[in-house]
Amino acid sequence: MNTKNSIHRRGLLLVLSSPSGAGKTTIAKKLLESEQHLDMSVSVTTRPPRPGEKNGVDYFFVDEPTFQEMLLRDAFLEHAKVFGNSYGTLKEPVFNTLKNGKDIIFDIDWQGTQQLALYARTDLVSIFILPPSVKALEERLNKRGQDTHDVMRTRMDQAANEMSHWAEYDYVIINRDLESSILEVQKILHSERLKRTRQLGLVDFVNTLRQEL
Ligand code: 5GP
Repeated sequence: MNTKNSIHRRGLLLVLSSPSGAGKTTIAKKLLESEQHLDMSVSVTTRPPRPGEKNGVDYFFVDEPTFQEMLLRDAFLEHAKVFGNSYGTLKEPVFNTLKNGKDIIFDIDWQGTQQLALYARTDLVSIFILPPSVKALEERLNKRGQDTHDVMRTRMDQAANEMSHWAEYDYVIINRDLESSILEVQKILHSERLKRTRQLGLVDFVNTLRQEL
C-alpha cells in the first residue's frame, strides 16, 4: 500500500507583500528558520546594498546594464521598478525549487505579485502584511536606520500606494506582534499544502485504500 509520504505535493509560490517597514522581510526570514521544504527567492536588484546586506543572500546586487541584459535574456519571472530601482525574480532558481518538491517564498511588491499571478495562479498563495498603524510603520523605518531621510520620506509616501493593493491578496495579516504574525503565516502555509489539488497521487492512494477494504 502507498504510504502517506509517497503522495507527491505540488510546490507552491508563497508571496509576502507589504509597505516597507511593515515587517514582511523579518517574517519571511523567521519562517525559513522553522520550515523545512521552503526556500526563499533571492531577487536581483540595482539598489545599492544596505549595511549588513550580503550579495547572493539578501539580493543579487547588479548595475542597470547587467539588469537590462538579464531582462533581454528573459531571465526574469517578473520584474518591476520600485523606488526608482529595478528588481526582478530569476526564473531558474524558482523552477529548480519547485522541481525539487519544495515551496518558495517571495518578498516582492504588488507589481511582481500581479505578474506571478498571470504566470501561476493556481500555485500562488499571496499574503498582504499591514502595519498596525502609521506610527508603527514610521518607528520601524526609523529603527532600521539604513535609509537616508529622503529615502524614508519617499517610502512613507509610497506606503499608501502599496497598501491600496491589499484587496488583490488571498490573505491579509495585521502585524501587531511579530511572533503571532509568523504563526499566522505558518498556519496559512500548512493549510495551503493540504489542499486537495496540491496533493498529487491522492487518486491512486484512495483507490489502493478502497481496494484493500
Ligand atoms: P527593499 O529595497 O526595501 O529591499 O525592497 C523594496 C521593495 O521591493 C519591497 O516592497 C520588496 O518587496 C520589493 N521587491 C524586492 N524584490 C523584488 C522583486 O524581485 N520583484 C518585485 N516586483 N519587487 C521586489
